[in-house]
Order: sequence, then C-alpha cells, then structure tokens
Amino acid sequence: MSRERFEMVVGLEVHVQLKTRTKAFCACSTDFGAPPNVNTCPVCLALPGALPVLNERAVELATRAALGLGCQVNPVSVFARKNYFYPDLPKGYQISQFDQPLATGGFIAIAAKDSGAELKIGITRLHMEEDAGKSIHDRYPGATAIDLNRAGVPLIEIVSEPDIRSSADAGAYLRTLKQILQYLEVSDVSMEEGSLRVDANISVRPQGQSRLGTKTEVKNMNSFSGVERALDAEFERQCALLDSGGKVEQQTLLWDGAREVVRPSRTKEGSHDYRYFPEPDLRPLMLDDKWIGDARKHLPELPDARKKRLGQDFGIAPIEIEQLTAAPALAEYFEAVARASGDGKAAYNWVMGEVLAVLKATGNDLSHFRVRPADLAQLLSLVRDGTVSHTAAKRVFALMVETGKPPAQVAADEGLSQVGDEDAIATWVDEVLVEHPEEAKRYLAGEKKLQGVLVGFVMKKSKGRADPKRVNQLLSTRGG
Ligand SMILES: [Zn+2]
Repeated sequence: MSRERFEMVVGLEVHVQLKTRTKAFCACSTDFGAPPNVNTCPVCLALPGALPVLNERAVELATRAALGLGCQVNPVSVFARKNYFYPDLPKGYQISQFDQPLATGGFIAIAAKDSGAELKIGITRLHMEEDAGKSIHDRYPGATAIDLNRAGVPLIEIVSEPDIRSSADAGAYLRTLKQILQYLEVSDVSMEEGSLRVDANISVRPQGQSRLGTKTEVKNMNSFSGVERALDAEFERQCALLDSGGKVEQQTLLWDGAREVVRPSRTKEGSHDYRYFPEPDLRPLMLDDKWIGDARKHLPELPDARKKRLGQDFGIAPIEIEQLTAAPALAEYFEAVARASGDGKAAYNWVMGEVLAVLKATGNDLSHFRVRPADLAQLLSLVRDGTVSHTAAKRVFALMVETGKPPAQVAADEGLSQVGDEDAIATWVDEVLVEHPEEAKRYLAGEKKLQGVLVGFVMKKSKGRADPKRVNQLLSTRGG
C-alpha cells in the first residue's frame, strides 16, 4: 500500500466557551437557547461609542485552563483586533489575542494508539477571544437570519503543536482535553451546543522526511469521531494527490459528515489578512505572580491524579478506573459511596451497573439523581450484613430511585428485608414442595440438580426475602 509511504501530520485548534454567566466584554447573559437577539446590548451590537469592559471571571477561567494544561501564564498579554467582514460580526472585527497571548507552552499526555506508551502532544498557545454571532441559513426560505446572542461570549482557543500522527491520536487528544477541562470546571465542553469546536490542520509527508508538507484546514466537524473520520478522508485525498504526481493546495475544507467527504469551503481562508493590531479600547492584561500562584494553588484535582489515587485507595483496576473517571461527577459519586460504605469493589459494581443503567434509561445526569451516595452506601451495608438479599436490593434500589427514600425505610415499607428466620423459611420450603409435587418427588428421590429450581421457587414465593443460603441448607437436609 502506498499509504504506508506517507506520514500524517496534524495540529488541532480547539475553541472552548468559558462557563461565565455574562459575556467577555459586556454584562449580557450567556444563556444557551434564549430567543434570538435577546442577549444583546450596545457593546455586543457594536453601537457607536460603546466600550468593552473585560469580564474578570473569564480571565480566571482562562488562566485555570492554561495552568491545568501545563502552560506558562504570561504576566502581560494583549488583546488585539482581528479584522474581517462577516454578516454575524457586527463590529467588523473580533477581539482576540495575537502576538502576546495569555499563555504558551503546555502539553497533553495521551496513550499512543499503537504502543500504549505515553505521548506528549505540545500546546503552542492558549489565548482569550470573543465569539461571533450565528448565521442561520436553513430556517427561512431564501434568507439568512442573524442571531447575536453568541456575539461576545468568552472563548479560549487552544492551539496544539503539529505533534499528532494519526486520527486515533487526534481523538485521544480531544477526549483527554475535554476531560481535563471538565475537571477544571471551566466549560460545558458540549460539541452539540457549540461550546467546544475543533478545526484541524493536516499535511502529509513521505516517511522519514522532516520538512512539513503543505497543509489544509478541515472545519465543520461536530463530533470527535467526525474529526477522526475527516482526518482519515483528508489523509487519503492528499496521499492520492501526491501519488499521482499532484500537489496539495493550501485551502480550507469542510467536512460533510453525511457523505463522509471533505469539500472546499467557499471562503478563501488561506488568503486572509486579518490586519491585527492592539485593541485600543482595552489595556494590556496584567497578572501578577501572586495572583497566578494562587490560581495554581486552587487548581482542582486533575484526571490523572484522581485515577492514581482512586486506584490505590480502592483497589480498582486501571481499565475500570478509566471508565469510572471519564466524567468528574461520576468519579465523585463513586468515591462518596466507596468511602461511606468502606467497600470499593461493591461501590464500583453498583455505580457502573445499576446507577449508570438508571442514568442511561432516564437520560438524566447525576445532578438530578435522587439516590444520595450515603443512601447507596447504606444499601450496600444492608446487603453485606444480610438484612437485604442481592435480589431484593435491586428492587429496593429501584424504589429509592423512584421515591428518594433511604434504603432501610424502603425495605421496611415494602417488606423486602431478608428473612433468615428458620420457621418462615421452613414454611416456604414446605409449601413449595407441596405446590410442585413432580419436582419434589424427583428431588427427594435423589435428583440433586433440581435443588436450584426449588430454591428459585422459594425465592419467588418469598418475593426475594428468603436468605438463599438458608434455603439451600434446609433443602439439603430434606433431600438427604
Ligand atoms: Zn452585550
């Protein structure tokens, strides 16, 4: 295959919306889903004379993101005007940062696809900027509508080094980045709502060549797997071009996910001259060492540290830890249950089993989940000390989800506490033997394998309350 002669070289630019209540340079709300153009004011509508005022919260979140990604935060950074004309950009420029960005020189560690070895993908820079508005092309026939609710929403742009060599590694980089930003609580990082957007620069070169080939930029991907498929498609296209003696042209391409192809964008991005110059309405952003140091001190625990700690504290295997720590809320819920119950294994099984199943079935996230960690821990204790059987525990859990009541109360209300009482179990066993004469006769004649069937009948009769161990013991004495 000629493809093996070539190497893929990818750098990613990720735009992330910061989780602030108000916009970057005015007091308008950042609410997603508000009616069009409701969240606007003279500043973000670019009315003459309106002046931007920097949102301090946005600076805090951007700094936290930069520190969490191992970047150096620069004591002085400068806002700049990025000039271009577009209908959804009322000012005719976007406030961004150019030659003096907020932060530089970080990295993200991923597990390489082939070897599993740790691979560090460099981060060139992280800068602050504002979002543009939104052009809506498909709602009104023959017309384009403009919604400026998004204009002025604070973003950070995270630019990677061209260190990525496969579509799978690009996917791993993005998933890791998203996870870190979730742990840092700086963004909702939702591709569906547009709070995380990815552009990819990709070029191809013969294996062993150090000089970079001509790159293209691929946009319009709306999922991480879409990014991977777009990179594979563009790699194929560039390889085929070079194979046939052609040349790659620098251009912007749009990913068409429905047809799984890239096609040229109508705008000629490559030829843009943004005529950057320092924003005259904003002073340089100055951050002193103490402020940056405090921000670093208050960083939350990051995914890698949490994986290591939970693995050690609760004896959970590495592959299981990956799933458990995928989202910070789930990891926190697990840890609370594990600590309160003192049983990491059982907590893991319940959280990854029953809890996730309920969340999936209801489409809710943990913030709307009615079973508190302390209550689930108590249920685990009831199972461990034999008060509630495994079978009944599932029923108790379902009722806890429904009612939000603690497990002991649910078990008492529903009569689901396990019965170890000899007389009660003996009565159920006798009844079952009478009600199923055929099985009883064969079992008592020595057909041992029917014991499981009979235990099942007793469990059903007792609505899961009988202690199966005692039922087995009792049947054995009858059979013998
Ligand atoms: Zn505004």
